[in-house]
Amino acid sequence: MVTPEELRSIPLFASLEEPDLEWLCRVMADITLSPGEYVVHDGDPPALFALLDGQGEAVKVVDGDDRVIGKREPGTLFGEISIVLGTPQPAGFRAVGEARVVRLDPHDYHALAAIVPEVATHVGRNAADRIGGPKGLQALASSPTPYRAIVLGHRWDAACADLRRFLDRNQVRFRWFQPDIPAEAAEWEGALPAEGDCPAFRIVNGKTVFRPQLRRVAELLEMDFEPAAAEYDTVVVGAGPAGLAAGVYGASEGLRTLVVEREAPGGQAGTSSRIENYLGFPSGVSGDDLSSRALQQARRLGAEILVTRSITRIDAGEPHQLHLDGGDVVQAKTIILACGVSWRQLEIEGFDRLVGKGIFYGAARSEASNTHGLDIQVIGAGNSAGQAAMFFSTHARSVTILYRGESLEKSMSNYLIEQLAKRKNIHTRFHTEVTAARGDGSLEAIDVHNSETGETTRLESGGLFIFIGADAETSWLPEDVKLDPRGYVLTGAEAGAAECWPLDRDPYLLETSVPGIFAAGDVRFSPVKRVAAAVGEGSMAIAFVHQYLRDAEARAKGA
Ligand SMILES: Cc1cc2nc3c(=O)[nH]c(=O)nc-3n(C[C@H](O)[C@H](O)[C@H](O)COP(=O)(O)OP(=O)(O)OC[C@H]3O[C@@H](n4cnc5c(N)ncnc54)[C@H](O)[C@@H]3O)c2cc1C
Repeated sequence: MVTPEELRSIPLFASLEEPDLEWLCRVMADITLSPGEYVVHDGDPPALFALLDGQGEAVKVVDGDDRVIGKREPGTLFGEISIVLGTPQPAGFRAVGEARVVRLDPHDYHALAAIVPEVATHVGRNAADRIGGPKGLQALASSPTPYRAIVLGHRWDAACADLRRFLDRNQVRFRWFQPDIPAEAAEWEGALPAEGDCPAFRIVNGKTVFRPQLRRVAELLEMDFEPAAAEYDTVVVGAGPAGLAAGVYGASEGLRTLVVEREAPGGQAGTSSRIENYLGFPSGVSGDDLSSRALQQARRLGAEILVTRSITRIDAGEPHQLHLDGGDVVQAKTIILACGVSWRQLEIEGFDRLVGKGIFYGAARSEASNTHGLDIQVIGAGNSAGQAAMFFSTHARSVTILYRGESLEKSMSNYLIEQLAKRKNIHTRFHTEVTAARGDGSLEAIDVHNSETGETTRLESGGLFIFIGADAETSWLPEDVKLDPRGYVLTGAEAGAAECWPLDRDPYLLETSVPGIFAAGDVRFSPVKRVAAAVGEGSMAIAFVHQYLRDAEARAKGA
């Protein structure tokens, strides 16, 4: 426990009376930190910290990377802004070497400030300096975060759209120049690449590559894409909410955990502009924000997360073998299938030709600025379509929701229907189906048919975003992993009914028809397709992994 003598070494407390110091010693937490250990993270609840021994640094997460924004010496404080304003911590604080820190919780701070007003004055002055001082947060916010990469490519080049989407979804700050806009082309240093070499990708002050594979882009950005080990306790397929939750729980509970994601962490949820029904976020949370928080959490707790890699084959056995695209094979005692669902494609005249050139499946958030001032359409009537309409309505001149049915009530949440009704530039056309997409190099117009009037009309289109539901893509799974007729993975009692189930015990709730292979989230056969359900199942799957490993150990001992 900290002593009054030690507290006197902190200028804020130096002039306090002995009884006040003794009271502080009783209420303050005394925390010893090892090198690199955090005492508080960006976004944690308010508290005031003082550094007793050692050195520390204030750290802010910028673009997914930890950025050191200040140093602290013994006797200095941390957390003044949060304690004065009652807000979450604007930055984290970690020890540089061994360090010792004391923490004062808000109600004790306010009790102290009530009897010694000088404390509030001192901390308030510090808070103002931390915000507006020369090295304060205001100065930090006004110095823009440097871009990490530059993309040179045409607006209607599908490869360029894929590249921009990949960078956007992986939260990489980049600049995009179009070679046919002279002012933008002039920003590209050096000779412009030939038409056929676009999109070109350049790391700021680094290498340039032409028409790169996303894997190469990930390599240049130093993202993890090679497994570090040959064997894991559990390998999670997919890093949507279910996979990231499994990563967090698996790693935090001491399992060697690998999460493999073919595109970007966050899954479908990562493409949502605002998730309003996830517990703990009273004013909603953007998919980007939720995904980047979950990713940081999983990494901090020790999960290994690979991007731009797909699992293409599983050989069930003991241990199971997972084949990654590109030829790597890893072994896993258990597997969690968290590979979600993929957008259903429409077979309509002109669609295949114009995908990525004005037609997009799902919300291509990186396309938002391209819809500026245009009339765009959204197909679908679910929450994802509603969220996309809200999102694009702040860029496009008008957004028209096209839907075959007669009302949104059956498929969309009430809060969204109310929000849509308040946006003057969002319109809805019921009984309407798109019958053709028109345009040479890019989408220019769509034909829509009204089933009530029998009329077909042509609408100018600056972008068509399709949200007509999704399917489980599970044809690559081994035959013994049983699926329902639509490809969703059977688990628990349904999996136990399969003839191939080999054990005396029943499968666990999330276990598939192959012992040790589990399924969580949207890919699992279940009526609930929600972020909260995916997170819950991903976390729960880890409890079953432990149970399976205990059984396997007992079987091995008994053998
Ligand atoms: C636009 C939109 C808005 C939404 N809004 C809400 C909302 O407001 N509230 C709500 O509760 N729900 C919402 N949902 C639904 C919610 O996002 C999903 O229920 C949830 O994301 C399911 O999580 P999951 O982890 O099971 O699957 P997914 O999110 O689909 O993630 C699966 C991941 O696995 C990866 N993957 C697939 N196959 C492989 C493979 N072979 N190898 C490696 N990786 C693979 C995919 O790339 C993907 O990243 C929304 C969905 C969308 C699309």
